Order: sequence, then C-alpha cells, then structure tokens
Amino acid sequence: MRATRFFISTLKEAPADAEIVSHKLMMRAGMIKRLGSGIYNYMPMGLRVIRKVENIVREEMNRAGAIEMLMPVVQPAELWQETGRWDKMGPELMRVKDRHGRDYIIQPTSEEAITDVVRSDIRSYRQLPVNFYHIQTKFRDERRPRFGLMRGREFTMKDAYSFDRDVDGLKKSYQIMFDAYTRIFQRFGLQFRAVAADNGAIGGSGSHEFHVIAETGEDALVYCPISDYAANMEAAEAVALSATRPGASAALTKTATPGKAKCEDVAAFLNIPLQSTVKSIVLAVDDEEKGEAGKQIWLLLLRGDHELNEVKANKIPGLANYRFATEAEIVEWFGTLPGYLGPINTKKPVHIVADRTVANMADFVCGANEADFHFTGANWGRDLPEPLVLDIRNVVDGDPSPDGKGVLAIQRGIEVGHVFQLGTRYSQDMKATFLDENGKPQLLQMGCYGIGVTRILGAAIEQNFDDKGIIWPTAIAPFEVVICPMGMDRSEAVKAETEKLYAAMLEAGIDVILDDRGERPGAMFADWELIGVPHRVVIGDRGLKEGKLEYVGRRDTEATNVPVAEMLAFVQ
Ligand code: ATP
Ligand code: MG
Ligand code: MG
Ligand code: MG
Repeated sequence: MRATRFFISTLKEAPADAEIVSHKLMMRAGMIKRLGSGIYNYMPMGLRVIRKVENIVREEMNRAGAIEMLMPVVQPAELWQETGRWDKMGPELMRVKDRHGRDYIIQPTSEEAITDVVRSDIRSYRQLPVNFYHIQTKFRDERRPRFGLMRGREFTMKDAYSFDRDVDGLKKSYQIMFDAYTRIFQRFGLQFRAVAADNGAIGGSGSHEFHVIAETGEDALVYCPISDYAANMEAAEAVALSATRPGASAALTKTATPGKAKCEDVAAFLNIPLQSTVKSIVLAVDDEEKGEAGKQIWLLLLRGDHELNEVKANKIPGLANYRFATEAEIVEWFGTLPGYLGPINTKKPVHIVADRTVANMADFVCGANEADFHFTGANWGRDLPEPLVLDIRNVVDGDPSPDGKGVLAIQRGIEVGHVFQLGTRYSQDMKATFLDENGKPQLLQMGCYGIGVTRILGAAIEQNFDDKGIIWPTAIAPFEVVICPMGMDRSEAVKAETEKLYAAMLEAGIDVILDDRGERPGAMFADWELIGVPHRVVIGDRGLKEGKLEYVGRRDTEATNVPVAEMLAFVQ
C-alpha cells in the first residue's frame, strides 16, 4: 500500500468525550469516527485491524471444526417471544417495526435464529455434533455506551453455537471452543486470562470469560497465583459465599473477637437497608482517631438506595464524622488503587468491613448480606506478589478458593470472549430436537461462544500504548512495516532503494505501507508512532552512503542501522 492511495487522517487532540486511552488513541489515529452515541464508522485504518482480528478468529474457528454462515441482523420478534427474551431483555434489545407494523429486533446475539435453523435442518444424531458460527454486526442499546469500541451500541461479534446429542458431547464441544479461544488470544499477542464466570441471564451451566488484562478493565478478576484457579468477581464471590455458608454462624462466634464490626452493626450505623443490590464500595476514614496507626477505615459495599454521592454529601446518618479517603491515601495503604474499590455491579449482596487499623490492613471481617454470614481473617496486603491480594487462608468453615490453595489475587480485565454451556435452555423453548438411534426425539444440547471482535481493538490498545500512541502487536497491526523515505522526491538513490525494498517486501508477503506523502520526517514519524505500526524502516541518503538503512521497532528507543541487503530478513 502507498500512503497516497490510502486514507490517513490523524488528530493532535482527542475529542472531549474520549475518556480512556484506547478511545482517545483510536480517534486520534483516525481508526474510527463517531456517527452517533455508541455508533462508529470504522475508518480504513481501523478496518484493517478489524479484518486481521476477524481473520485470526475465522482461521481458528475453522481449524476447530466450526462452520461459517451468516444470520440476519434484523430478526422477527416471534422467535424472541418463543424463548421469552422479547420480554426478559428489556430496553437493551433494540426493537423495530416494519411498514406493516410487525415487530423485529436488531440482533444482540443469535441463539434464537440458530436454534430455528437447526430445529428444521438437524434431524438425526448422525448430523451431530455441529458448530455454526458467524461474524456479524450486533446491536445492544447499552445504558451507557462509552469508551469507543469498547462498549459500543453497534459492534461486531463472532458468535458460535454448538449442538450435541448429550451433555458429554456438549462438554467436548465446549472444550474444543475453549482451546480455540486460547489459541486465538495467543495469536493476537495479548496478555489474557480465562476465568470461570456466572452464567447470568443466558441460563444453563458452565461458563468462562476471556479477559485481556488491563488496569482500566471494567471487571475484577480473582485468581490464585500458585494454582489454576481463576474466576470473575461474581463467580468468585458466589463460590466463596457458598463455601462458608454451612455452619458459618457457629464459626463466627468461635473466631470473632469482641468489638469487631458485624454487618448488622455497620448497616445499623449507616442506617442502610440490607435487602437490596450492592451499588458501590465506599472507603471512608475515621478522622477522629489521630495518627496513622489509629486510623480506622471502613470498606463498605453500599447497597440499596444509597448512591456514592449521597455518602459524599453526608446524607447518610452517622457518617458525618467520616470523610472519603483520598486517592493518595488509598495508594499509600494498598500500594495501588485496589481493583476492588470503585463502583461495581454485582448481584451478590456482600460487604467488606475493615475492623483493624490501616497500618497492617489485616484481618478484615467480610460479610454477606445475611446475619452471621462472614469470613474472618481476610487480608488486603501489599507485601504479597500482586498489587492487591485478598488472602483468605483463614476463612472459617472451608476455604473459598476451590482448589484449597487459598491465596487469591485480584487484577482487572476487559471481557473479550465468553463461552457458555447452555444445555437445553433454548432447544426446550423452541422444541429443537433430533432423533436418536431408536428413532426417539431428544432435545439438542447447546453451547454458545462469543468474541467481541471490535472490542479487541480497544482492549489491545489499553494493554499496549505509550505517550506517543498505539503499539499494535504485529498480528493485528493495520500494517506490519512502514517504509519512510527521506526526500524521495529529491534523491534518486533514496527513491530507487525505497521502490526496491517496497517491492521486495510485497513479494515476501509483508503487509507494508510506503509513506510517499512527502511529509517532513518529524510529522511522518509522529503519525506512524500514533498509528502504532510495529516496524519502521527509514531510508535516507546519509545511511545509503554507508550501505545502511535505519530500523526502529515501535518500542525501541534507538534506531538500529541495518545493511541494505539484510533489511528484508531483519523485519521478517
Ligand atoms: P459486558 O459484560 O461487557 O456487557 P456481555 O457479557 O454482555 O459483555 P456477551 O453477551 O458475553 O457480552 O457477548 C460476547 C462478547 O461480546 C463479550 O465478551 C464482549 O467481548 C462483546 N461485547 C458485548 N457487549 C459489547 C459492546 N457493547 N460493545 C463491544 N463489544 C461487546
Ligand atoms: Mg453486556
Ligand atoms: Mg459480561
Ligand atoms: Mg459475557
């Protein structure tokens, strides 16, 4: 590709509505352009990345035996009424009417559509197992579209659906997809983690999320650094809570020391209702106690009708003596801003109460929204290997880390993939059956597997950037190499060498762009650093006199001189 035949449109400043790095950089690099709330044009530079992501996904899905098809974006409401999701999904489901007044939806996902296909076209066990996928536009009327492609309303998803004759088959199909996802995210060149997940609204049993690790991620991940245990916060809490449920009351009495705050005390103290959903965590400092060691902090998951703002405005009775800890204070105590702080959205009614001084941050009582339902000895420490460690080795009545290793660390992630064992959730409602060997109809066992294709772009950038711009992993970079000639119009030698190298790279199958725009070097380099092309080759008269070209890797701080004849091999 020659830059003059392509479309490059970079900006010095990001638009004001761009809050996070990936959104800012994608806008500045001219990858996307906003058309409406949560709706973006994929500009030529951005589309190249999307296509590379799609190709890797497609290759690995095909390799894993899934079959590509394409289901429509607009789907009849009747299918969604059959499964009850027409009502259940609420305002996130985009509904439209045609000229006859008939109802349709714009697909947020395609379980109904694919189940409709298989209930008519799969008749016999001989046709199983089968796995269909498509890479298609999705629409979700997100309550808060934000962060550019990270949480758009219109976005691209790869969704796959497996059908098996029994649960054993489903588990095999699920494992095949799990392995394919692992290969896909490895090929992207991103640091990621698969975590156990709650199944949520979709129903069924058995589910994992794939997260790209990034501090800006919306989700908290809980994992054990010395074992395989990893779960998202919701699933971890669910396991931890159920593990301590039996006999928790007796255990608490046994280990509780006088003066420790109980959930009920805290709730009473704050006068908050106990029976509704957790909304946010509040970290407050008791200012009356003087001196570092004497400071008592309270970590509360506020629930019910109280919003953070209300607490800030001291509208909650009893909180008048407390102020919010400053970010600096939190960093001082925790060594970092704990991932577990900040607004969260969990259906699990849990709160955490700090009952010791800030100096050692040890031995919290963590309680759930039930009387006498606590962990003791939960430690938030900074001496442990990861930024924030929730050490629940001393948890009473069973160790909530399922593998018994017990030390859990928390990090933040961006959900880029999700695999589910759905079982018969959809085949039951939609009567999707096959005939077994005895000619008996049986319900199909279904799995579904999503990858947020366009979200990957945002996630990759959140993990790979610097103050100059994006640093794409080569596998998904818009171009692998940029050739930057210095004074191509003035120097015959530069022009000749540039054309020669460009042709050789194309011949070798390298995805190369030749910057023939005639920009000044500073502006030219700034553009490519912003866009994030991993390899840059600079061709100039000075180097050529010594038979050398200049190579700069996107993460390099200095250029490397490479003999002209070796450059091709050097960038491969
Ligand atoms: P989230 O928790 O972020 O809302 P989800 O759990 O609702 O995502 P799924 O239904 O599991 O999403 O969809 C599969 C994948 O689609 C997700 O793992 C994510 O990568 C992607 N995805 C979901 N919603 C969006 C969105 N609004 N914009 C971009 N990608 C999305
Ligand atoms: Mg969602
Ligand atoms: Mg999710
Ligand atoms: Mg999900």
